[in-house]
Amino acid sequence: MTDSYEDVLTRFEPVIGLETHVELATASKLFCGCATAFGAEPNTQVCPTCLGLPGSLPVTNRAAIEYTMRIGLALHCTVASWCRFARKNYFYPDMPKDFQISQYDEPLCIEGYLDVEVGSDEGARTVRVPIERVHLEEDTGKSLHVGGATGRIAGATHSLVDYNRAGIPLVEIVTKPVEGAGAEVAKAYVTELRDLLRGLGVSDVRMEQGSLRCDVNVSLRRPGEPYGTRTETKNLNSLRSVERSVRFEVERQAALLEAGVRIVQETRHFEESSGSTASGRSKEEAQDYRYFPEPDLVPLAPAPDWVAEIRSSLPEPPSAARRRLAAEHGFSGLDMAQMGGAGVLDLVAATVAAGAPAAEARSWWLSYLAQQANERGTDPAELPITPAQLAEVIGLVGAGTLTNKLARSVVDGVLAGEGEPAEVIAGRGLAVVSDDGALGAAVDAAIAGAPDVAEKVRAGKVAAAGALVGAVMKATRGQADAARVRELVMAKLSPAE
Ligand code: ADP
Ligand code: MG
Ligand code: ZN
Repeated sequence: MTDSYEDVLTRFEPVIGLETHVELATASKLFCGCATAFGAEPNTQVCPTCLGLPGSLPVTNRAAIEYTMRIGLALHCTVASWCRFARKNYFYPDMPKDFQISQYDEPLCIEGYLDVEVGSDEGARTVRVPIERVHLEEDTGKSLHVGGATGRIAGATHSLVDYNRAGIPLVEIVTKPVEGAGAEVAKAYVTELRDLLRGLGVSDVRMEQGSLRCDVNVSLRRPGEPYGTRTETKNLNSLRSVERSVRFEVERQAALLEAGVRIVQETRHFEESSGSTASGRSKEEAQDYRYFPEPDLVPLAPAPDWVAEIRSSLPEPPSAARRRLAAEHGFSGLDMAQMGGAGVLDLVAATVAAGAPAAEARSWWLSYLAQQANERGTDPAELPITPAQLAEVIGLVGAGTLTNKLARSVVDGVLAGEGEPAEVIAGRGLAVVSDDGALGAAVDAAIAGAPDVAEKVRAGKVAAAGALVGAVMKATRGQADAARVRELVMAKLSPAE
């Protein structure tokens, strides 16, 4: 019988370590000029360099180096004054050169930290997660296993390889072991890191599309003992999976340790449906990648002024933005906890920063958009609408161009990929009708259609006007400016002077 996670924590101390991969949002790849857009036709964004054809030579993308330094500096790391790329040799079908250009013992950024907050209200505390390194490497291609039921290689009849992703710049952020940290800290760390990266503008950080993915190492020890043997759960692609996989590993490892069974050092895969992890590749014997300095690239030696310039242009970190949000907009501790719990705090802050009133920004993210995310089984941050787009829609409601109902329809259109808010409004014909000519005709028709109601209003029963306003709203499919309709109804039915 497996003890519950909470029980296990009374006897064992978990230690976690996270390795996070972030695809950078540079326009072109790391060592060639190919485009990096997501979702393009397979093998249309490739060239001899990223296909690893003989005779091709890599040239480093300056923006990728800059983005990596932005990340490192935002994580309080030291930027190396001189470092090199390394070849990591291994065979994999979606890696065309049979080696990956990565960084090994000379990463671009080292030794930093990220503070994360866990618990709410009275139980709130800050955990400092130490960062070991931030390095830059090229992403691999993607294999597609066809003909089976599951999309996995087992049972497939054949496999296809798409090299569009090969060579996209990928930053790996590795933490040191975090002592006494479990599922809650793991999730809080990935959330904070994602918000930080979004604020830096270096990646679109969409976990479902794979632009942010995470491996979580977990081990248990009894208090005072050295670290236990760890397992590494690979490729987690949602915040929820990060949390669930750690909980599962802690419970699984505790049951083995209590039974006197030793933990095997291995990679594991998380199964979304069962919430459990399954054994992958054993890591008992370290694989020999035969690393050596990449001979086709010059070393990196970022000039001190360049580093200083990046440091001075870093945006406000999300934790400070949150504090300012609470202070400037009068959000209570409860509001903040509610937004934090729903994973929308940073989104609300960004929407406010883009010009929306705080109360509206909060209400959109907490209600309509949280509900949309929920229906899609995703995180609000994964929704394909940006805070700036939402702020624009909110602005149009404020200006009377959209009603709340029309605004939801505009948001639906943006979420459905119909373009920017203005394009959705034009495409769906959503602007509010406040033009008196068009409304006047509709008001006349409503009065003509309900003479008894009109008579009551004329006799001073103002409340009866609601039925006429309702009729006009119905006739205009909700696109009329209701306040203006009421004014017109009252003007037309006021006793003649
Ligand atoms: P690998 O090359 O196998 O990925 P690393 O040395 O890069 O190994 O470590 C991977 C991650 O595991 C790092 O985040 C590190 O802090 C963490 N880690 C190392 N030892 C332990 C341990 N005993 N328990 C939990 N995490 C650990
Ligand atoms: Mg690793
Ligand atoms: Zn290319």
